[in-house]
Amino acid sequence: SHVLVCGGTGCTSSGSQQIMETLKEEIKKAGLESEVSVVQTGCHGLCALGPIMIVYPDASFYSMVKIEDIPEIVQEHLLKGRVVTRLLYQETVTPAGVKALIDTNFYKKQHRIALRNCGIINPEVIEEYIGTGGYQALGKVLTEMTPDDVIQCLMDSGLRGRGGGGFPTGLKWKLAKQNDADQKYVCCNADEGDPGAFMDRSVLEGDPHAVLEAMAIAGYAIGANQGYIYVRAEYPIAVERLKIAINQAREMELLGKDIFGSGFDFDIDLRLGAGAFVCGEETALMTSIEGNRGEPRPRPPFPAQKGLFGKPTILNNVETYANIPQIILNGPEWFASMGTEKSKGTKVFALGGKIHNTGLVEIPMGTTLREVIEEIGGGIPNGKKFKAAQTGGPSGGCIPAEHFDIPIDYDNLISIGSMMGSGGLIVMDETDCMVDIAKFFLEFTVEESCGKCTPCRIGTKRMLEILTKITKGTATMEDLDKLEELCYYVKENSACGLGQTAPNPVLSTLRYFRDEYEAHIKEKR
Ligand code: SF4
Repeated sequence: SHVLVCGGTGCTSSGSQQIMETLKEEIKKAGLESEVSVVQTGCHGLCALGPIMIVYPDASFYSMVKIEDIPEIVQEHLLKGRVVTRLLYQETVTPAGVKALIDTNFYKKQHRIALRNCGIINPEVIEEYIGTGGYQALGKVLTEMTPDDVIQCLMDSGLRGRGGGGFPTGLKWKLAKQNDADQKYVCCNADEGDPGAFMDRSVLEGDPHAVLEAMAIAGYAIGANQGYIYVRAEYPIAVERLKIAINQAREMELLGKDIFGSGFDFDIDLRLGAGAFVCGEETALMTSIEGNRGEPRPRPPFPAQKGLFGKPTILNNVETYANIPQIILNGPEWFASMGTEKSKGTKVFALGGKIHNTGLVEIPMGTTLREVIEEIGGGIPNGKKFKAAQTGGPSGGCIPAEHFDIPIDYDNLISIGSMMGSGGLIVMDETDCMVDIAKFFLEFTVEESCGKCTPCRIGTKRMLEILTKITKGTATMEDLDKLEELCYYVKENSACGLGQTAPNPVLSTLRYFRDEYEAHIKEKR
């Protein structure tokens, strides 16, 4: 038998490393060392319930495990085969017995592609990845497919960028392949900066090889032999697992010279970001990898023409890459059969705020907000009413209750004034003030503006001043008009995506909750 212990950042911060050490000691004391192995995995998604442990062969899912619980787990469960019922995840306990995790409300509407190995394999052991079909897609690409076949496969799958932009991935690769150059690059954006979003971190912590494999596939498709992963230095566990994964892949000749004896060379290096939000913007990210201050540069030229070090480059986000090996192996029709007409496949969301099951979920595109919040998320705590959900982070907007039944996809979210973004989903209840929410996100963008262009540097500051006046009750209706005017000015005149989208949280709350802005002003009178 074996025991899985979550080693993702969420569970690690609630003490899973000590839990794992104590478990190993107790297993040793009980003389079970040769029979029971302890495996550290990535995230299971139920981050609020950590530390999480799954005991096999019966797959008992223990949540909020404490050090004091370990002797009982070993003595009762591992030695005598008796499940410690009080530690079971309550949702799995039914009058008829214990049900499988996959049948709980949290999991049953999920479909895990990008997260498929997270919480299942040990991310620090390459053989575990290979054991689940890992590196087979790279093998298939190198032996059975031309670069054009790979690109066509991605175009047919309908995969769009999961970092927020939603640009078709196959088309991006096609444009980069078309440009002849002595050197091209494949980059991975792991600079996840949206407040509340942590899906990329979880993929890197739980399944780093999936990203490496996909980047090598990208290198083959566009004709590049060097990849860079730009990862936040604030993600130490992800960085460590990536380093381990890259070394293991090199040792097994899955990266480096002459992969699989095919004559194809591809290697990957890490570059650590220092936490500037703007470095998630593609041109700023490349400028930063080049060793310069991370400021955006004008487009065109686009990275597919002149990207990193002036060479054709593709940049995709972690979650986008994590889908690719599965698309290659299962075929584009498989992927395109999930989702909506223009948004195929699944999307990972980080659920946060006023919701029972805070954590990470992967759902087919087209799932409604109601299903995500009421069923998967378990609803709003303390009997409070839902007011709005914020998606898309500082670039996104708030979705009010009237759109509770809208199928979530790229285009629907934009049509109601929000956006997919990288997948942060923060739930607000009836006690939350929407002006405060807009102010929170604007404070973030003011702080993170790189200062290169005036509309963003100065405009967002002026907007924040007015918002502060409104929340203090000292603003007038003219101030509100000015705020709205500034929103459009900053949106239209800023040089990069950060400034162009910074007014969105204000605009969407004004669209749906203008009465709350006006109430702050009227209170004063
Ligand atoms: Fe910098 Fe903001 Fe201008 Fe972008 S919009 S270049 S972040 S100042």
